[in-house]
Amino acid sequence: MNIVVCVKYVPDATADRRFESDNTVDRVGVDGLLSELDEYAVEQALQLKEKAEDPTSVTVTALCVGPEKAVDAVRKALQMGADEGVHVSDEAIAGSDYIATSLVLAKAVEKIKADKGQVDLVMCGMASTDASGSVVPAMLAERLGLPQVTFASVIESQGDQVRIKRDGDTATEVIGGTMPLVMSVTDQTGEARYPSFKGIMAAKKKPMETLALSDIGVDAGEVGLSVAWSEVADTTERPPRTAGEIVKDEDGSGATALTGFLASKKFI
Ligand SMILES: Cc1cc2nc3c(=O)[nH]c(=O)nc-3n(C[C@H](O)[C@H](O)[C@H](O)COP(=O)(O)OP(=O)(O)OC[C@H]3O[C@@H](n4cnc5c(N)ncnc54)[C@H](O)[C@@H]3O)c2cc1C
Repeated sequence: MNIVVCVKYVPDATADRRFESDNTVDRVGVDGLLSELDEYAVEQALQLKEKAEDPTSVTVTALCVGPEKAVDAVRKALQMGADEGVHVSDEAIAGSDYIATSLVLAKAVEKIKADKGQVDLVMCGMASTDASGSVVPAMLAERLGLPQVTFASVIESQGDQVRIKRDGDTATEVIGGTMPLVMSVTDQTGEARYPSFKGIMAAKKKPMETLALSDIGVDAGEVGLSVAWSEVADTTERPPRTAGEIVKDEDGSGATALTGFLASKKFI
């Protein structure tokens, strides 16, 4: 069984994030990491492997499309326990929208399939932590001609059958599918593991492939900002946080002042 987990490299939310002069996200000059929501997808892929009758027959491949530094996202997935890594990196990809990103991911999955045989499961996070589109998994399924089961909070699998729980606002659906399929998982699936020291050392020896667009049969003219269907016209920095209001309790009136404040903000 082959599982491909799509892992995105995103700007670190705790770092100083910036836009480029063309309003694209600065993905090169800012520290980045594996999107936290994709750690859940890696975790679930690893759990499927561990629960398999013969875990050695399951290969988990971490796939990332992104700039040179994005290899760090693949490395983290390898440190967590993924078996192999594929990093698609090409200058022409910069500024790609969902449509181009899903094209590159789909072609990379097809390349993995051509090299290794059937890809049974393509797993994604529920959204990236930067653009938060939540649409790439559906686009990927469409491009690969595969069924999709999205926003899984619980995953069960037996043979080629998969059942997920999908929590909505008013009901939880149980959805079944037959592999091969595309699945996205939510942050409700359970804590993602931390890489162990052993895992970090082992990752150094795991196979890692770096591919350019030409390796996966994508023309540079099909991707990038110039063919994006949407464009960020302008960006404005958030105003700095204002100082909060401090309620002092010097004469015993603190509690009244506090409830008055909360009531004025309609918190109570
Ligand atoms: C209005 C708008 C304008 C934008 N303009 C720009 C721009 O000018 N320049 C720019 O660089 N970006 C831009 N973006 C962001 C860019 O479109 C997205 O980063 C990209 O298309 C993927 O979408 P997403 O991250 O929202 O994916 P989602 O659909 O939220 O991702 C879901 C899952 O798909 C997988 N996935 C998504 N992307 C990757 C990836 N690259 N590698 C591996 N797995 C992946 C992950 O598993 C992820 O959890 C823009 C976004 C918006 C909303």
